[in-house]
Amino acid sequence: MGLIVQKFGGTSVKDRSRIFNVARIVMNTRNEGNDVVVVVSAQGDTTDDLIKKAAEITSDPSHREMDMLLATGEQISISLLAMALQELGVPSISLTGWQAGFNTDRAYTRARIKRLDTERVESELARNRVVVVAGFQGLNRSEDITTLGRGGSDTSAVALAAALHADRCQIFTDVEGVYTADPRKIPKATKLKEISFDEMLELASLGAQVLNNRSVELAKKYNVELEVISSINPVPGTIVKEESQVEGMLIKGVAKDNDVAVISVLGVPDVPGMSFKVFSLLAQKNINVDIILQSSGRDGNKDVVFTVPLGDAETALATLENNKKRFGGGEISVDKTCAKVSIVGAGMQSHSGVASTMFEALSNANINIKMISTSEIKISVIIDENDADRAVAAIHDAFIH
Ligand code: ADP
Ligand code: ASP
Ligand code: MG
Repeated sequence: MGLIVQKFGGTSVKDRSRIFNVARIVMNTRNEGNDVVVVVSAQGDTTDDLIKKAAEITSDPSHREMDMLLATGEQISISLLAMALQELGVPSISLTGWQAGFNTDRAYTRARIKRLDTERVESELARNRVVVVAGFQGLNRSEDITTLGRGGSDTSAVALAAALHADRCQIFTDVEGVYTADPRKIPKATKLKEISFDEMLELASLGAQVLNNRSVELAKKYNVELEVISSINPVPGTIVKEESQVEGMLIKGVAKDNDVAVISVLGVPDVPGMSFKVFSLLAQKNINVDIILQSSGRDGNKDVVFTVPLGDAETALATLENNKKRFGGGEISVDKTCAKVSIVGAGMQSHSGVASTMFEALSNANINIKMISTSEIKISVIIDENDADRAVAAIHDAFIH
């Protein structure tokens, strides 16, 4: 007996039969004597379809209006699921993100949760109801609707689990857990029994869509153990927790991210403060720079090459072009045909030769590496996006047997 938070993603609630499937999972959990808070995403491709609808109106929609639009998707799911539960005789109530107490900052389309007031949710639980909460949405200080960024329902679920001191937080999805690579792309990928917060955070940040990276950040901060499981197949999934004890696995996973653009600033003056000037211009625009490569100076000039999210590439380019004089000029260009492929694993800290195994796999597949970045538990390479799927397969083969 306890309090359980269960989150169901878009595929898991995509139609009538899936909604009743979810309702039965929730009913069974409740029949075992638990209080249940359910978080749901928009049905199927609803969020993508809403984005397309906005694109039919304008190529540059206001972020506030985008959030007003996108938040509608989750409201369809909560009401339908609450109805399905009632149909099964389970007392339930649906709540929007704001009714459930999600207060966020002002950053439309990628808002962060500032405060979560759980009184309403707790009072509904006290009335013996299953509470069905809309994921991905909140309200800012001006009482305008905000959304938490793509995949943000995971974050809503973890935040509720933390605030309510839930006994369990289950993330139900359309695969059976966290795998060594995307199981839809790499059939040989294996399911992980467990993975640490740090490793999962890297995998999620590097493109493994199965969990939103902010949700893992939050889970680590509040030590909320997560169980990633299938909403279709009732088999054990993956536990995400502080320490993972799986021995003998050098790397836990391979991830791919197509959301990268490489910006090159060639032939800038090789003088103190140059990097500061370039990157402070981008910081002022809130553009996150990831991998940075700087050549050593030659003939008084040097080259700076770095990656930014694809969606920020044009802004970054325009900002640098318009302010060229401030850092002394140079030739600026953008390459949007790149992908980042990464390996993640705490095991690599204590083993040499991990990087060389990865590079050997790419070399054998005749794939050219454009940039490299490493940290204690990950190695990333930037390559041509057309090579990315082959690269993931080759690297996966090299490490996971
Ligand atoms: P949901 O709608 O349930 O939130 P998502 O589509 O956001 O589901 O995430 C699940 C998808 O993540 C899977 O269908 C799978 O294709 C993809 N995925 C990418 N990398 C991994 C991985 N390492 N392990 C499991 N799934 C992954
Ligand atoms: N519906 C939102 C999305 O598609 C949030 C989520 O699914 O977590 O990104
Ligand atoms: Mg998701």
